[in-house]
Amino acid sequence: MSQRYPIEKVRNIGIIAHIDAGKTTTSERILFYSGISHKIGEIHDGEAIMDWMEQERERGITITAAATTCFWIPSDRQKDEAFKHQINIIDTPGHVDFTVEVERSLRVLDGAVVIFEAVAGVEAQSETVWRQADKYHVPRLCYINKMDRMGANFDFALNSILEKLTPNAVAIHLPMGQEEHFSGLIDLVIMKALYFEGDHGIELKLTEIPAEYQEAAKAARAKLLERVVEHDDKVMEKYLAGDEPGLVDLKKTLRKAVLANKLVPVLVGSSFKNKGVQPILDAVVDYLPSPLDVPDVKGINANNNEAILIKSDDTAPLAALAFKIQTDPFVGQLTYFRVYSGIMKSGTYVFNTTTGNKERVSRLVRMHANTRAEETEVAAGDIGAIVGMKNTKTGDTLCDEETPIILEKIEFPEPVVSVKIEPESRADQEKIGDALRRLSDEDPTFKVKIDHETGDTIMSGMGELHLEILVDRMFREFKVKAKVGRPRVAYRETITAEAEAQGKYIRQTGGRGQYGDVHLRVRPLESGQGFSFVNKIKGGVIPEEFVPAIKKGIEEALAKGVVLGYPMVDIEAEVFYGSYHDVDSSEAAFKIAGSMAFQEAARRAKPILMEPIMRLEVVMPEKYLCDVTGDLNSRRAQISNISDRGMDLKVIDATVPLAQMFGYTTTLRSLTQGRGSSMMEFHHFARVPDNIVKQIQESKQPKEATR
Ligand code: GDP
Repeated sequence: MSQRYPIEKVRNIGIIAHIDAGKTTTSERILFYSGISHKIGEIHDGEAIMDWMEQERERGITITAAATTCFWIPSDRQKDEAFKHQINIIDTPGHVDFTVEVERSLRVLDGAVVIFEAVAGVEAQSETVWRQADKYHVPRLCYINKMDRMGANFDFALNSILEKLTPNAVAIHLPMGQEEHFSGLIDLVIMKALYFEGDHGIELKLTEIPAEYQEAAKAARAKLLERVVEHDDKVMEKYLAGDEPGLVDLKKTLRKAVLANKLVPVLVGSSFKNKGVQPILDAVVDYLPSPLDVPDVKGINANNNEAILIKSDDTAPLAALAFKIQTDPFVGQLTYFRVYSGIMKSGTYVFNTTTGNKERVSRLVRMHANTRAEETEVAAGDIGAIVGMKNTKTGDTLCDEETPIILEKIEFPEPVVSVKIEPESRADQEKIGDALRRLSDEDPTFKVKIDHETGDTIMSGMGELHLEILVDRMFREFKVKAKVGRPRVAYRETITAEAEAQGKYIRQTGGRGQYGDVHLRVRPLESGQGFSFVNKIKGGVIPEEFVPAIKKGIEEALAKGVVLGYPMVDIEAEVFYGSYHDVDSSEAAFKIAGSMAFQEAARRAKPILMEPIMRLEVVMPEKYLCDVTGDLNSRRAQISNISDRGMDLKVIDATVPLAQMFGYTTTLRSLTQGRGSSMMEFHHFARVPDNIVKQIQESKQPKEATR
């Protein structure tokens, strides 16, 4: 049975971290503590807890579920159900090859916990994700994990956050001891020492701050107060008059500053050693937003195309965003959604504004740490999953048919790498289509198409690793074995000027002839705008019924550009004149005429070839710097920065054409005797220099990378 939580007691959060910072360990602990929080006292023997954790580890699924729900009563309200909060944890991947996955989760979450390591501090991937969270204005907490590890250094990690990410970070904890002496933490908000005792640290013990930490705690508390009070005039006034804010005012003001993205509280702990996890949950409740605290989301009224703002309100019509399709081994396909307004109810029909179809919500579920709960409804601000939806894709809006709404689209970049894929056997041949379709439904940056000339199946994605993982999933989840060709760059073409042309298609070969005549104009659009078709035909010079055929002809021509045959993008085509013949004109003739006119106009409009440029970061010991930069220069890389990391590491930041980077990890390994590492992500599309276009043209396989 559903239990609906008051919306102000709901938190939708993401746990963000680079690989190895401890996201899995921390998530596991969060689910563990929240799972037993309302049972504390019942389970007191270690056995039961271990069982629970073992089971959890075996299943492991909940950790990777797109959204998991848990409940938490803040530690200082222990056992008082009136203070119970519902926390939905939205999964965010740690690897940058999946930036899009991160963006998509950032879109549906309201706040985030960012995990760092106490030894390494801020690393490259954390910076990338941090910038993405900035883009979506996501309020954050930082958690410095692994305080127990050798080399752990809280001040170093905090400083790296301050220097590399934000000057707004402020410690609300101090560690007591570090490395193997890490024993607990000082909570600077309540000015107490906190220890984690009992089995798996489930018992929290508060004491006075030990004498040896008094001084440091006072200094850190003063810093915290200084940063907090300025966010509320009254509190500030009192503070200046020598009056420290009370606990309620302090928390309230800190919350206000965090919600406004003006402060980022920094917490500390060691998830592995069961220290510091419950305070993360407390801070999520205290400082991260409820769905009511975030700005209304933008949408479009699909009836009149007017922009609207959607308030988090149960009584308004339904507006929900499908943000992830995932296959669950037990119940099959799950469509995860976030409700922005109204209520999603099981047994009803919802309207998918993107496809224009209605679909039945036969079952609604919610993932918990160790159960999967059936729900009858999921209300505004909350997250759930629909079982067995067939025609809804990631990014689609689900709503009431009477009040169709389109929620602001999640922006997905176009794929940059393509490979040919061939099933290994007849049996694989039969299954491959379904597998590819399911995977591309899940992941909008993964595209599949058939090359009509060669009959090859081509899949495209955001990087070599992205495609490798998909091929591996195809094998594991769909039992399809396939051979994969060499990766190729997904070039594109566009135009840089305006031009006009006529396309006239006339055939007179006995019987009924063919007649189509189209005049059109093409002009460049801003990057990312795709294709737009404008009909400016006046006075019936071309009958209305032939216009869709003209558009189709242009779209077919777009797929095969005029420079080297790559797809054309960011173009507007305006059809403004033409003629027809009473008997001979047909859709087929106008389609051909449209295509001819477009190709000619595109040729006149200074067409160019565009290639994906990647952002690259290479980290290596200093002694290899020369070799690595020399090699990068030969790859048309533009090095923007070289900096130091730690004792003897150098970090190169650069942008470089993807065409030059296939197999780079292998080269880097041999240049640095295995000690260098690199990270690459799509940055932008840029014009391919003419001499390189020539090389591509002249090479025997025109579509291959030039190296
Ligand atoms: P993820 O890649 O971010 O999900 O990281 P994991 O949670 O899988 O952790 C990576 C490694 O760090 C594992 O071997 C963990 O056992 C270890 N680890 C995680 N948290 C801590 C911690 O607090 N202290 C120590 N010493 N190791 C930790």
